[in-house]
Amino acid sequence: MPEKSTTARLRTSDAAPQTQRTESEVLFRALLTSLHDGILVVDHDGKVEYANQQLCTMYSIDAPPESFIGFDSRNIMLRISQMYTEPDATVRRLQEIIKAGVPILGAELVLKNGRTLMRDFIPFEYGDGRRGRIWHMRDVTALRDAQTQLIEANRKLEALSITDSLTGLANRRQFDQVLLHEWSRGQRQGHSLALLLLDVDWFKHFNDLYGHQAGDACLRAVATALQAKARRAGDLAARYGGEEFAMIVPEIDADAAVALADSIRLAVHGIAQAHAGSPIGQVTVSLGVAVMVPTADTQPDALVLAADQALYRAKDLGRDRVVMAPMTQPET
Ligand code: GH3
Ligand code: MG
Ligand code: MG
Repeated sequence: MPEKSTTARLRTSDAAPQTQRTESEVLFRALLTSLHDGILVVDHDGKVEYANQQLCTMYSIDAPPESFIGFDSRNIMLRISQMYTEPDATVRRLQEIIKAGVPILGAELVLKNGRTLMRDFIPFEYGDGRRGRIWHMRDVTALRDAQTQLIEANRKLEALSITDSLTGLANRRQFDQVLLHEWSRGQRQGHSLALLLLDVDWFKHFNDLYGHQAGDACLRAVATALQAKARRAGDLAARYGGEEFAMIVPEIDADAAVALADSIRLAVHGIAQAHAGSPIGQVTVSLGVAVMVPTADTQPDALVLAADQALYRAKDLGRDRVVMAPMTQPET
């Protein structure tokens, strides 16, 4: 078998002068040495057939790899195990792997020095019933670090893409996603879903009187008051657009939804932001409330439309108030 003769030549040639190595053997060694990965080949007797410098470097072994060749592989295993937080458990685990004799690819291990290695264990046959094994170690620290940074950057981007930059509330995109999600959940579980739409009263006048920056600060204050009322896990306070805000409140009845809306209206009173352009003399909000139990084959648009119509009614009735939409079932 060619494999057998190659490995046999390999071992004898360790003690032999360089000149006696065959061409394929020299090539084979040059290849293994050129790898960035650590390689350890152990023969059927458990003796080290080959170890490269990269392996020793990975495991902070000062001795040259040649010093292990021909000796019991337990020597190198013990040295290697010292680089793990639990050396004894590591040795036991390695022995189990050797005993099982089946390939294990891509195992990730973290060393005491913080480096992450990916290990392949590859048993092989010499062709005459004897079995050897190859340990192949790759330092994947930089790869894992880059992946972690990428995941973190993606997470931040994702958070930014669903957040309103002025107020820090959920933006319209997140509002749409959550509304759809809660609507489907309501359809499956048969529970109610409330939507509160909030619009700042006489806000154009506010901007005209106090300037756009003061207007922005006012929107932030309203957002903070609204967010403080989103108390349950499923509640979502969002900036719907411009000076309009929304709150999605699952599993709430009409009376409680109206009471919640009114508490938001009063919380905005609590801000006590002067507004000379409003008949009330301070910033107020109007709210439209709609509550529905989503039925099969319906869309959440029905809920938005009902809340919007109620909001316009609140404006028509004089602002600074809450109007509840008539309880309707969404059209199928
Ligand atoms: P109403 O009581 O009927 O709601 O009157 P309104 O003046 O609030 O309504 P209108 O729709 O006429 O004006 C809304 C104003 O909100 C106009 C717009 O300039 C202002 N606005 C929208 N987005 C922002 C923002 O991000 N910052 C500031 N400062 N103003 C905004
Ligand atoms: Mg508006
Ligand atoms: Mg307005």
